[in-house]
Amino acid sequence: MPRILLVEDETSIADTLVYALETEHLEVCHTTTAGEALKKLHNPFDLAILDVGLPDMSGFDLCSEIRKSSSLPILFLTARDSEIDRILGLELGGDDYVTKPFSPREVAARVRAILRRTSNQPTAVAKESSSAKGTLLHDPSAMTISCHGTPLNLTAYEYKLLAALMSQPGRIFSREQLLIKAWDDPGSAMDRTVDAHIKSLRAKIRAQSPDGNDPIETRRGLGYTLNPESV
Ligand code: CA
Repeated sequence: MPRILLVEDETSIADTLVYALETEHLEVCHTTTAGEALKKLHNPFDLAILDVGLPDMSGFDLCSEIRKSSSLPILFLTARDSEIDRILGLELGGDDYVTKPFSPREVAARVRAILRRTSNQPTAVAKESSSAKGTLLHDPSAMTISCHGTPLNLTAYEYKLLAALMSQPGRIFSREQLLIKAWDDPGSAMDRTVDAHIKSLRAKIRAQSPDGNDPIETRRGLGYTLNPESV
């Protein structure tokens, strides 16, 4: 059972999170201060959830402390937009974040997604060879992606977004993660930029599909994923 270190000083938030995570068959160790969390770190954990506003130290400073000795995946809980900017700056080494107020189920889904991609189990590898039944085919050397045998006429951003989604079909990518994959300077782009490019990308795929559908799925509050059956 994966073990989660939860550092959150607001009892009501912590209680609902512990309940949601345990329902997902995750073992949770809850502390209310950074100091207490640092003492627990000698235990093996699979992921840490850090509130940014802790009483004795900020979640950012706690993250830096953890990073000195560990690459433990870290999910931040934030209350302010200004904190998101810092997380997205990535120098902190966090893996993801959720903003308050959040649904405990959303947090549990994010935790599961991070654990999936950081676990030692082999991750899905993009199929680069031609597959007769797949809808989408990526030719990385030619930097082209075909839909039902017809190469899609994609912009550079659309190509990078779709290649990222195809690299791990079924994985949910947050908008921030897609920004980092497709933009050289993610700081200059916005979540809505991802939405706009995904929208035009979906239209191009649908135009090539006999059934008028596309395999990109929107996961509300989380991001985008590619139906694994399409590759
Ligand atoms: Ca707090």
